[in-house]
Amino acid sequence: MSYTALYRKFRPDNFQDVKGQEHIVTTLTNQIKADRIGHAYLFCGTRGTGKTTVAKILAKAVNCQNPVNGSPCNECPSCRAIQAGTAMNVIEIDAASNNGVDNIREIREEVAYRPTEGKYKVYIIDEVHMLSSGAFNALLKTLEEPPSYVIFILATTEAHKIPVTILSRCQRYDFHRITIDTIADRLSQLLKAEQVEAEEKAVRYVAKAADGSMRDALSLLDQCIAFYLGQTLTYDRVLEVLGAVDVEVFSRLLRRILEGDVTGSIRILEELITGGKELSQFVGDFTWYMRNLLLVKTSEDAYDAIDVSRENQKLLEEESQMVEVETLMRYIRVFSELAGQIRYSTQKRILIEMALIKLCRPAMETNLDSLFDRIRVLEKKIEERPVVFSPSASLQTAQNPNLRMDEKPAEEAREPAKAAPEDLKKIVAGWRSIVGETGGMLKQMLKKAIPKYNADTGEPVLFIEFQDFLAEPYVENEEVKAQLTEIIARQTGKKVKIQMLMSSQKKPQGLAEISIEQAMKENIRMDVIVEES
Ligand SMILES: [Zn+2]
Repeated sequence: MSYTALYRKFRPDNFQDVKGQEHIVTTLTNQIKADRIGHAYLFCGTRGTGKTTVAKILAKAVNCQNPVNGSPCNECPSCRAIQAGTAMNVIEIDAASNNGVDNIREIREEVAYRPTEGKYKVYIIDEVHMLSSGAFNALLKTLEEPPSYVIFILATTEAHKIPVTILSRCQRYDFHRITIDTIADRLSQLLKAEQVEAEEKAVRYVAKAADGSMRDALSLLDQCIAFYLGQTLTYDRVLEVLGAVDVEVFSRLLRRILEGDVTGSIRILEELITGGKELSQFVGDFTWYMRNLLLVKTSEDAYDAIDVSRENQKLLEEESQMVEVETLMRYIRVFSELAGQIRYSTQKRILIEMALIKLCRPAMETNLDSLFDRIRVLEKKIEERPVVFSPSASLQTAQNPNLRMDEKPAEEAREPAKAAPEDLKKIVAGWRSIVGETGGMLKQMLKKAIPKYNADTGEPVLFIEFQDFLAEPYVENEEVKAQLTEIIARQTGKKVKIQMLMSSQKKPQGLAEISIEQAMKENIRMDVIVEES
């Protein structure tokens, strides 16, 4: 069974099929339609973006007997000869292997003769930056006075290496890296034509891995199809073939790092290594993951710019609530530096381990962003430290010195007393430690919420005003209310009614706008007074 590589089989043979380079295609077809064809073109851009493909189409179009809308017909003898590579008037030269003066002199001599077939002689010089300086000079002479029937198309990945004298005689076209969307669309089309079933996620992953190059995308897709011939191309299979790491692992790793769990992080790295993952790729992919997270955190419509499945969106959403922008930026910086170091290192694993430790232990670094991170870790510790304040017990002993220690009422059995306004203030002051006992998304929402109470009526009601729209589902959720009532009762010995609302909602009148910090301060002062009396 013979197999033609996808990128050969599906090489565009007309301008309409060239994807992602509309700015170039439009200009060229307009030139052809108006018959205002230039004599020297320079096609610049990274590999696999369609430079030689467009050059070939242009060569066909200018010679075509019945061009359709500026594109070649692909049916006339001229089109067919060029397509087959047998045409005498289209000459392809690879400057990488023909870079001497003599090669160019040969061209100069040939140029003197009119084409024997077709209207134009087209010279396509690929990798033109490889020409020697003597060869460039010889080429310049031809470009200065080109015969009317000659077209030069110079293609290069490194335009800065082309002498200015040459540049100034060419129409320059910059080929863009092709977007993931464009590549993915094209891949889906081809898969349909090839009758290969594939998951959308899988296709997008291949498109992303190709990094802007359609040719690379097709080669990668080829690899995946060949490996699982006749089977559906799933995301997992693509990951398997391309040796990539699944997002789920990144999610776990990031959570370990945020917890400052060095052993846990290194264990996940170990897991990856035994799984045979390529370490440089892991570093790149994890950096990409954190970049996505940063986008989710900082931008409203991040999902247009990033490339993740719906399940993974959920993970990202959760994590974006767990991590601060500064922390994330520090992580990305450390990992970008790592990517540079690791490339030529023989100790890749050790370098990665060191980077993971750096992430887990911001104290090891002294830059500004690591200081932010150290503050974050300290804040978290304060928040999670159980703040025990049972004002009832201390007040009772202070007010009633006759109360004997063994007569202390059994707290467990007793129904907690209704909270007075003073107690509500204490609850606000201890808000962080109350929130600290919850978990997951709820915790993130409560952290940002503002606790309030009604100072006028003195009702034992704690209002929780959510600031984040994502908290909507928690409003009036009885389970959450019960959980919070229970935590508050346990921490303060007081019973409160919980009422939840969104910050956008109309609020009841007279709610005390007391900040947690203020409440904490006042609360500390109050405790001191109790001690003194
Ligand atoms: Zn034709």
